[in-house]
Amino acid sequence: MPKLKIRHNTIHNEHIKPAISLSIIVPFFNEEEVLGEFHSRLTSVLDGLEENCEIVYIDDGSTDKSLALVESFKSVNSAISVIGLSRNFGKEAAMSAGLEHCRGQAIILLDADLQDPPELIPEMMAKWREGYDVVNMQRKERNGETWFKKFSAASFYRVMNILVKIDVPENVGDFRLLSREVVDHINQLPERNRYMKGIFSWPGFRQTTIQFNRDARFCGETKWNYLKLVGLAMDGITSFSIRPLRIASVVGGLVALSAFVYGMFIVFKTMMFGEAISGYPSMMVVQLALGGIQLLSIGLLGEYIGRIFIETKGRPLYLIQSVADKPALKNSLILEESA
Ligand code: UDP
Ligand code: MG
Repeated sequence: MPKLKIRHNTIHNEHIKPAISLSIIVPFFNEEEVLGEFHSRLTSVLDGLEENCEIVYIDDGSTDKSLALVESFKSVNSAISVIGLSRNFGKEAAMSAGLEHCRGQAIILLDADLQDPPELIPEMMAKWREGYDVVNMQRKERNGETWFKKFSAASFYRVMNILVKIDVPENVGDFRLLSREVVDHINQLPERNRYMKGIFSWPGFRQTTIQFNRDARFCGETKWNYLKLVGLAMDGITSFSIRPLRIASVVGGLVALSAFVYGMFIVFKTMMFGEAISGYPSMMVVQLALGGIQLLSIGLLGEYIGRIFIETKGRPLYLIQSVADKPALKNSLILEESA
């Protein structure tokens, strides 16, 4: 039996690097408990695919051992890139970093906490091969989430779809497949305010939806609290619609009109029946209602102006501290027969 000598891939045979068909983008932030299990489940799915795959891990400024752990990962069939951001920029920025750095023709975004089962990837790829550009993964059930989270999520999608002209599919998270064409368009969007669920829907193209049951987190805790979710909802609405401003103008107009009518009525009444001292309750009610509406509208204006402020600064979405690229093991080993 001939003896095999193993030589590692060097820069000289860079040109034999195979084209990547599928990129998996995984943003993570302090997920050390789950990443090992995640990686082994993901690679065992990717090993079953014919396509050349790459996994792009984005470390969103983790403060635990997640980054070192991911840098030690290997895979036989998939190339692995590990991009370390310089601090926690948030999931939306981390996903943007992944989208800009991936090379695949099909791109799938996956959470590291195993809430989006990697086992669905072959089904998503089948849709992509059929010619779809966007495969939305819709949650049928949200296991492991409180009724309040479910209720607030449902209400948010309802409000969002009333206010925003593009259709943001309900109960579709960031877990989805995008074609290279769509990702190229998304990468060209200059905005800093990245509400990704809206941005993914904005380009349009051929879309389809697969339903799945979303599992509870494998372990660890959600990185979102309600305050952050309210912020995300505000971002979503204000970066895709100016309808709230229009609603504020319409409400303001209606209030002004009724104030005018009521004013005429008071003048008329005073002229007819003289001046009465009473009227404190109605004064208070009108004052409070007007004050409330005004403050609300000013706050709303502030939301938009704040976003204009952030956009005009034009700062980068994220800063990269480290990049590590590892070819798939099967490509990095050149087997040579030696005598
Ligand atoms: N995540 C991130 N940066 C953050 C917060 C979260 O990259 O600032 C990652 C997190 O590690 C996970 C994914 O985004 O891989 C989804 O986060 P999480 O599970 O906390 O959100 P949920 O599933 O509760 O919406
Ligand atoms: Mg999660």
